[in-house]
Amino acid sequence: MSDAERAADAAQSEPYTPPPLLGCLYCHTEGSTSLSAPRKFLGIGGDLPTLTCSHCHTIALFEAGTPEAPHEWRIRYKKLSRAPRYYYMTVQFGTRWHTAEQAMQISRNGYAQRWRVRQAHSGDLTFLQPTRFSPPPPLMSYDELVYLTLSGVTLKQSSGGSLSATDETILDAGTFYLTDQKVHLLGHRRDWSHKLSDIQSVDYNERHWRIYVGANQQHYQGQNYPDQLDAQLFAAIVQALLPKKEDEEG
Ligand SMILES: [Zn+2]
Repeated sequence: MSDAERAADAAQSEPYTPPPLLGCLYCHTEGSTSLSAPRKFLGIGGDLPTLTCSHCHTIALFEAGTPEAPHEWRIRYKKLSRAPRYYYMTVQFGTRWHTAEQAMQISRNGYAQRWRVRQAHSGDLTFLQPTRFSPPPPLMSYDELVYLTLSGVTLKQSSGGSLSATDETILDAGTFYLTDQKVHLLGHRRDWSHKLSDIQSVDYNERHWRIYVGANQQHYQGQNYPDQLDAQLFAAIVQALLPKKEDEEG
């Protein structure tokens, strides 16, 4: 018996079950997914079965692999869960088709990301390795611990009374540093610096993160880069470094 035949025999004795049928790729709950037959209504609708998760309530189209290549299934979410804890999944899965390989990668990365956000929320930033720069860039002191360095960050402010994006003025753009004491921007025009205690708020969406620092809605803004550091995790890291407000204790 050849190796190939032996492998085929083994495959037959242990039928392959695609991972999305064992557990949810989106929320990682085991045994929460169920497959239902394709629904056709007046001839409209796909001929693919639907995969529903009873935990996160996502719904996906599932295309099984062929008998010769059962591992080559595909998945496409039709209904996402936009709960903050599934931020990474929402952005990365979207409503596009994903091959088995892509879907498994997103699912694994998303699981790690969710843990890191949870860690950051609890004030634990041990997954980062902050360093001191010697010499430090302008406006940074020698004792500052640099947690993150990001390029392509802009500093903007609202130019009128309106908060509409079209009324925003870009003050500068450049390399951004987050330290244990300050945020810095080595801009093309000049260098900017704000103490962490001057940060008014931090927010994020599916496209970017923002740190509000001054009057006129002045804020630093950076792109969401899920492959490197997504906007949600970034915001959680900044929040973990912010000085605790004393009045929150009471
Ligand atoms: Zn789920």
